[in-house]
Formats: sequence, structure tokens, C-alpha cells
Amino acid sequence: MRDAILVVNAGSSSIKFSVFAESDGELALHCRGQIEGLFTAPRFVARDAGGTRLAEKSWGEGHRLGHDGAVAHLGEFLRAQLADFRLAGIGHRVVHGGAEYTQPVKLDPGVLAALEKFVPLAPLHQPHNLAPIRLLLERQPEVVQVACFDTSFHRTNPDIAQRFALPAELHDAGVRRYGFHGLSYEYIASVLPDYDAQAAAGRTVVLHLGNGASICALEGGRSVASTMGFTAVDGLPMGTRCGAIDPGVLLYLMDERGMDARAIEKLIYQQSGLLGVSGISSDMRTLLASQAPSAKIAVDLYLYRIRRELGSLAAALGGLDAIVFTAGIGENSAEIRARVMADAAWLGVKPNARANAKGGPRISAARSRISAWAIATNEELMIARHTRRVLAAS
Ligand code: ADP
Repeated sequence: MRDAILVVNAGSSSIKFSVFAESDGELALHCRGQIEGLFTAPRFVARDAGGTRLAEKSWGEGHRLGHDGAVAHLGEFLRAQLADFRLAGIGHRVVHGGAEYTQPVKLDPGVLAALEKFVPLAPLHQPHNLAPIRLLLERQPEVVQVACFDTSFHRTNPDIAQRFALPAELHDAGVRRYGFHGLSYEYIASVLPDYDAQAAAGRTVVLHLGNGASICALEGGRSVASTMGFTAVDGLPMGTRCGAIDPGVLLYLMDERGMDARAIEKLIYQQSGLLGVSGISSDMRTLLASQAPSAKIAVDLYLYRIRRELGSLAAALGGLDAIVFTAGIGENSAEIRARVMADAAWLGVKPNARANAKGGPRISAARSRISAWAIATNEELMIARHTRRVLAAS
């Protein structure tokens, strides 16, 4: 019987999953899918590695399946689907591992309690990440579960890069820059030597441009700085998040608009970024296709902030050997990549327009001093690899 590893990414309204099977010492995708609309109109779909639909189900408008019902349905599907496999373990994406968890960790009730302490640091994600872990620890304690964190990869940042200029007591209490999207950056760092061994050993800036967006500076494959800070709202403007903002704006909104923490949270996480500026959409495709002046302002602002943050991270590295684009926008939008590369000409980036239009992987000209790449990320595979390693060590 072959071993399989289940990867779970539980969010506020959806649970995404992937199953990886052992195949000649490698992990190969077996199937993947999701249940979305957990509290509104739940819908389940699963596909095999080639994209062929294996199963689907809709519960209809107004049905509240919740995480509990979704885990039960997934369990049922997977028991049938994995009849020929042994479920070796489950790897979970968990947004916050605080300063303590610098590596993935095997879960037990004690570790779960420790991770619950980070809920205030990521209130919109952490409780949902932990919900299926808790259910499975209660109902199937014999199943090995592993937590893989979005923050761990950045724990190699020098102390100075993790500090805010606030009183030291707050830093010691955990108010510091953590950084996120770590599983994506770790995956890119793991494959970069196959594309550009010299840059992988040197200084690279990776742009993870998805719905959430951040940029990370890598030195020899280790994270030394990133644009996200205490929470995943810092840094670049994103689909609906504002990115870096003068904290004085928040004080003003409290004093002059009577907004409380929850109202500000909604504003900066859900109503800002590309959506807020354009008033049209959080989806980059829609904005690039739109003739509306506000769509142009949103895209221009997005690119302007990338230009500045890229320079800032190149300065943190003291120079640059390569830039890598990844995630939904980074992997798929030749237009955004072309504009970021044009903005980075001063750093020594010379694009290869034809290669960029084709999607890469190398998108810089042969004579470019700094190489540029478009590389698909694979956070799920990174979680599966981590889970396999923790299982082997336990
Ligand atoms: P998430 O952070 O939710 O995982 P993704 O990495 O899937 O997000 O990225 C989603 C974003 O990618 C959306 O803004 C979408 O518009 C954008 N995107 C996907 N394909 C394209 C494309 N061809 N051109 C521009 N943007 C794209």
C-alpha cells in the first residue's frame, strides 16, 4: 500500500485540500479540491492531478455546513478515494507560528493550545486554520497532524529586520515583524537552484503577487527581509488589503470618524487595495481590462508601491542578482511583469519581451545583469514535504 499525505488549507469560508502520494521517493499530486461557501451556499469539488472532475456536490443557498460538516464530508470522500492508500499524515497550513515556531511541528493538544495564543495576531485566519485540527484531534487522535506556518521561513531575518521602533517591552511581548507567505518563498527558494544556481546562492527578490501580495529578500535561499510585518496587511496594496499605511491615518479614523477596531479591520482588510482604489474589483484581470480611470489609478498605485518596495529590499540585500515573480498575478500577468521589470531597469533588469509574453521561466534578456524569472509556486507541495519529514522524524 502506498503512503498518502493530505494537505489542508482551511480558511474562513472554504477548506482547500490536496492529496500527495509517494511515488518512487517523490511526492506526486493525486487529487485536489475544495469546499467553499461553508456558511452560505456550500459547494464541493474534487479533481484528479490532470484536472478531471472526480466528485462534486452542492448543498444549496442558505445551508450552513461549517468547518465541522465540511471535515465530515471530506473524510467520507477521502476514505473512498484513498482506499488503496495508507494515510500517513495530514499537513495543515497555519498562518501564524509566532516567534517560537521556526519549523513545522507535530500537533497535539498542548501545541494546539500554544497556537491558539496567536489568534489575536491573525484573527481573520488563525481560528479557521485551527478549526479542523481541533476536530481531528478530538475525533481521530491516532492520525498524525503537522502544522506548517507562513511565518517560520522568515525567522532567519536578522533581529534588526524584525523590530519596530517601538518601546522594547512591546517587542519582547511579541509586537514585531513576522512576515508571511513563507511556504511560497520556501518553495521558490527550493527550486531556484534548478533555474539559476548563481542567483540562488546570491541575492534574490521574490514577488508573491496573488490576492494577498508580498515581496521577500533571499540571501543564499534564506529570508532576510519581507514587506509583510506584524500582520498580513502590511507592505504592498493587495486585492482588498491596503498594505503599508501611516498609523496616523488609523488614529484619525478613530477620532474623526468614530471607527472602532472592527470597523478599521474591515476597511483595511476587505475594502481597500485594488478594490478600494478602483471601486470596481479586487481582480487584477478585471482592472487590466477596464477603461475606467479609477482602474488605471489602482493598477498604477499597485505598481508604484512594488517599485518602491523592490528598491527597499534590494537595499536591504545590498545588491541584487535575480528577481522572481510568482502566485496568481506574478505567474499569469505578462503585463504586470513587464511593467515591474521596466520600473526595475535602474537595478539592471533587461526584459526579454517575447519570453515574458510566453510566460517564462526566464523572462530577462541574455545580457541582463540581473536575471528575471516567472516560476509557479506550490505551497501545498511544500507542506506535504514538511509533513513527510516530520513523520519520518517522529
Ligand atoms: P490567492 O492569494 O487567493 O492564492 P492567487 O495566487 O490565486 O490568489 O492570485 C489571485 C490573483 O491572480 C487575482 O487577483 C487574479 O486576478 C490574478 N490573476 C490570475 N490570472 C491572471 C492573469 N492572467 N492576469 C492578471 N491577473 C491574474
